[in-house]
Amino acid sequence: MRHTIAHRAAGSLAPRDDDHHLNHVIVALAGGTGGSKMVHGLALANGQADLTAIINTGDDGHFFGLLVCPDLDINLYALAGVVADRGWGYADDTFRCLEGLATYGREAWFGLGDRDLATHIHRTLMVADGATVSEVMDDLCRRLGVEARLHPMTDAPVRTIITTGTGEKRFQEYLVRDGAREEIDAIRIEGLDAASPAPGVLDAIAGASTVVIAPSSPIVSIGTILGVPGMRDAVAARREHVIAVSPIIGNAPVEGPAQKFLRGAGYPECSARQMAEIYTDVCSTFVIHETDADDMPAIEALGVRVVVTDILMPDHAARERLAHTVLGAMA
Ligand code: GDP
Repeated sequence: MRHTIAHRAAGSLAPRDDDHHLNHVIVALAGGTGGSKMVHGLALANGQADLTAIINTGDDGHFFGLLVCPDLDINLYALAGVVADRGWGYADDTFRCLEGLATYGREAWFGLGDRDLATHIHRTLMVADGATVSEVMDDLCRRLGVEARLHPMTDAPVRTIITTGTGEKRFQEYLVRDGAREEIDAIRIEGLDAASPAPGVLDAIAGASTVVIAPSSPIVSIGTILGVPGMRDAVAARREHVIAVSPIIGNAPVEGPAQKFLRGAGYPECSARQMAEIYTDVCSTFVIHETDADDMPAIEALGVRVVVTDILMPDHAARERLAHTVLGAMA
């Protein structure tokens, strides 16, 4: 609790339930960097009390024996108001431990800060004592003063494996260690078929007034979440209340290697229209950037309503503004 007060006193960004908040019961589906901007914007616009985020865990993995859940933690830190300006990791963190590990000849390419390591150590110890990842997230949220519910998509271990010309790699090896430079031959989500939605996830989707598909990777973030058995049907059943925001502007993602994942999954086109086509069974409304307004007829021809606005979220004001537009479109 002392922790929470310290963060808030230091000008925490954790939103409160002010009068100006809208009255949506929101479920967001999200990955990490792009997804957390939207989740944070929704919290700023509508408060945290009525916000549930269902987060991709296909990027998770073990580093130095510790269970690291990058997408869950980006969202956790964003909602707690402690995320670093670069968009991941803990604010003002140092990397002394990682530097020390490198000195000992350990591979130190995955940026685990000293404060961040406390999260992973705590999670790993809880899991060793029998807790699920859902239970760990509840605990982390409570201790960091996050009122929203952050659910892993599943408590089962699910791991995204990328095959390139040089072999199979874990997701973070492909993305971070190797810089996502190689073309992708295949994407395999290990453990997905045997996974089931985490407790509370299907009920949250069924009970939401609005479901927001954040501008995250359609293949390795949202695609993975929707691939958990039962999840795609649960979202499709709420299609009239589901709105998705494009992670693509023009013919490129706002940031990151989404084209490579799209090509690797068999989609040659990288465009907002292609995104809308991937989501047409699960969303009734799709949000595209102003400069893609010409794509509107082609997307509407898919049977999806189109909202045109500025979908870039470089700062907190832009996140909140986009969230207001998204929620306003579903009012
Ligand atoms: P990861 O799990 O860290 O790879 O992150 P996500 O899957 O959540 O997000 C990656 C996607 O976010 C990329 O395809 C980006 O194009 C998209 N993205 C990042 N920032 C923004 C933004 O400000 N606006 C929109 N619309 N998309 C963004």
